[in-house]
Amino acid sequence: MRRLSWLLYPVLTLGAAWAMVVALDRGYSTFWSVAIIQTAAVILVIALEYALPFRREWLRSHGDMRTDIAHLAITSNIVTGVRWAITVGFVALVGPTGIAIWPTSWPLWAQVVLITVIQSFFGYWVHRAHHRLPILWRLHAVHHSAPRVYWLNQARVHPFESILDGLTLLPLLFLGAPETALLVFTAFSGMHLTLQHANIDLRVGVLNWILSLSEAHRWHHSRERHEADANYGGVLIVWDIVFGTYALPSDRLPPADTGLSGASAYPTGYLGQIASPFRRQLWRIK
Ligand SMILES: [Zn+2]
Ligand SMILES: [Zn+2]
Repeated sequence: MRRLSWLLYPVLTLGAAWAMVVALDRGYSTFWSVAIIQTAAVILVIALEYALPFRREWLRSHGDMRTDIAHLAITSNIVTGVRWAITVGFVALVGPTGIAIWPTSWPLWAQVVLITVIQSFFGYWVHRAHHRLPILWRLHAVHHSAPRVYWLNQARVHPFESILDGLTLLPLLFLGAPETALLVFTAFSGMHLTLQHANIDLRVGVLNWILSLSEAHRWHHSRERHEADANYGGVLIVWDIVFGTYALPSDRLPPADTGLSGASAYPTGYLGQIASPFRRQLWRIK
């Protein structure tokens, strides 16, 4: 099973993208298509965490489950609404297809690859800025406060950071990327980000030089800032390689100790984390 684990990534991400193509082809609503595909993805990933765990101790709650479920249930809905409003505002401002230079004649898969390359570029710099600028680190610390790395971590994000991340889609709208290609990218990248954090012993070999997956991302959750300030890629890791922030040590396992350094006072509850960027006394944390 472990030797076949590299197959899980292409099967699950391409499966999610294919399910979205079929759903859109049959005229199902966008909301239900996204909801059903993401629910199916989560059920599969949870089952795989138990079948093939990377760290068995990360299977049990570290007192983080309730907080993470609140991030998933509350933040993701708020953010979806705000992103929708931003998109509608943007379209009203520049028109439905922006400057319309998008290569709409390309096959759908090639358009999704192009979206991935462009979105990953902007996502890389937004993520890197969250590590380098103290004001943004206050938001991003919510994600790095996770005491273990598992599938729900992808939802542990401050809503203001999620909205900033969402802005990385605006250049694509401006270039005129069509909704179908963006939705297929959403299905694919949603599955990717769940797998990126999943506590599954997923070995992807040479794909670690193209994609930002769990083997590299676990280093990003290290309590040591010099290890965490690397591997900023969302879907692709290639921008980390280009800009010199790629780190995947082969001589040791990624850290079991994850979280914020020197952060014993950092809140563990949902509301405390939402308020944390605005509490000045917390920010002696590096
Ligand atoms: Zn980070
Ligand atoms: Zn993460």
